Amino acid sequence: MTQSTASGFATGINCMDGRVQLPLVNHMMSTYNVSFVDQITEAGPVRYFNMPEDATQTDRDIFTNMLARIDISVHHHGSKVINVTAHPDCAGNVVEDDKQKIQLLEAKAYLKEKYPTCTVEAVWIWPANGEDWSNVTCITL
Ligand SMILES: [Zn+2]
Repeated sequence: MTQSTASGFATGINCMDGRVQLPLVNHMMSTYNVSFVDQITEAGPVRYFNMPEDATQTDRDIFTNMLARIDISVHHHGSKVINVTAHPDCAGNVVEDDKQKIQLLEAKAYLKEKYPTCTVEAVWIWPANGEDWSNVTCITL
């Protein structure tokens, strides 16, 4: 007899882009056996974790708000897994893919330090052939 043993919450820090929402939720539910994924969405969230000195106050406020929402997921929902993602063709973070992957790893390092009891994973969401968003792969970096 097989029974689902999924339980609890995980935290997904994801782009607001509608092409990447379900792939990330499905990836997290199947990889971590959780029932629910709290979605912390921004336009290109990875760009906020290692901001330049001259970052705008708006960007700083967005980052503060993101962290407040991650805190709720971790401290109130008891999430043990945080997943941060990026994807090509991101309208909220218009930089080369290689730069986004560096930002992803910087975000992962930041989150590992801030939430030491959580597993932190960085995922690059890649569409088939670089353009087919109906068939994407979640690649762990
Ligand atoms: Zn995006």
